[in-house]
Amino acid sequence: MSSGWDLCNGQMRVAGQDRLRARFLIRSWIMQDFQRKVVVITGAASGIGRAMADAFATEAARIVIADIEVEPLRVAEQDLRSAGGEVVAVQTDIADPRSVDALANAALGAFGRVDIVCNNAGIGQSLRPIWEFSRSYWEWFLGVNLWGIIHGIQTFVPILLRQGSQAHVVNTASVAGLLSYPFTFVGPYCAAKHAVVSISETLAADLLQAKSNIQVSVLCPGFVRTRILRSERHRPPHLAAEGHVNSELEEMWNAAIAAGADPKSIAADVLAAIRAERLYVLPSREFDSAIRSHAEDLVLQRNPVLAATETHVA
Ligand code: NAD
Repeated sequence: MSSGWDLCNGQMRVAGQDRLRARFLIRSWIMQDFQRKVVVITGAASGIGRAMADAFATEAARIVIADIEVEPLRVAEQDLRSAGGEVVAVQTDIADPRSVDALANAALGAFGRVDIVCNNAGIGQSLRPIWEFSRSYWEWFLGVNLWGIIHGIQTFVPILLRQGSQAHVVNTASVAGLLSYPFTFVGPYCAAKHAVVSISETLAADLLQAKSNIQVSVLCPGFVRTRILRSERHRPPHLAAEGHVNSELEEMWNAAIAAGADPKSIAADVLAAIRAERLYVLPSREFDSAIRSHAEDLVLQRNPVLAATETHVA
């Protein structure tokens, strides 16, 4: 399959995948082993980020954990260290590019290099119709869930490129980055996560085009048992509260997250995806048919059918 710029029929992507496969044969053994690799993880004090830190520590990686919350970060650092892990903790606000730069400097200062970057930190939102969020709410929310990922890429990818060695970027999106329609009242979350999926795909394509040694994965979990619905605590004091407007929906989300996947299994999927050099990481297969019918809706220019998706949301 020849490489080309025929973007309409996806030739560019197919050619890229072929090159990827060819290169995979030559060098895939390198990332099979995480021992002594330097892994930076944002949002590592809780949930999926914490589980990733534990999983990498088990593989004897050197870990830089970052989070905006100091106390849980300190606990995570102590736990990892007592388990024999080589760990550095850096309080970081991913919404602030200087803070992300400081994180990178701390990682380089401690270990001299970075091999894997997990742009994972994120927040959940109030449940409201999309037109009811204020501009300040959007700015805060996208500042973390979208700009946080962009800052991670802007800061770390040039470092990985300069190093020139095998590296991997993992961006945490969500199934809400692949589907919007069935998820009522979570407009900003879907907007941010769709952007994260798109940015990850573009990043992967651009890095391939640049013949870099950097792989990309975008993590799109369904419901995971974490503290994501308690993100109101992160709201800056100058912003007025814009709470949930639908208690039934709120209960439904609470129940879905409480019954969600164990973050440990999500972390295991991430490590497996890095080893397999897999771009898309979809640990929750119950959304497959909704994703398929969404893709068909697009191609057929067909309006989405709520009845078909309700089953996936409930
Ligand atoms: P969590 O709340 O348990 O963990 C998120 C961590 O990010 C927290 O420790 C929090 O303090 C930290 N954080 C928040 N704002 C930050 C900031 N500005 N800078 C640095 N750290 C910050 O939630 P989680 O579910 O583990 O979330 C991790 C990622 O997974 C998020 O991007 C989230 O959107 C995504 N996700 C979660 C689910 C789910 O069901 N839990 C599903 C799909 C995707």
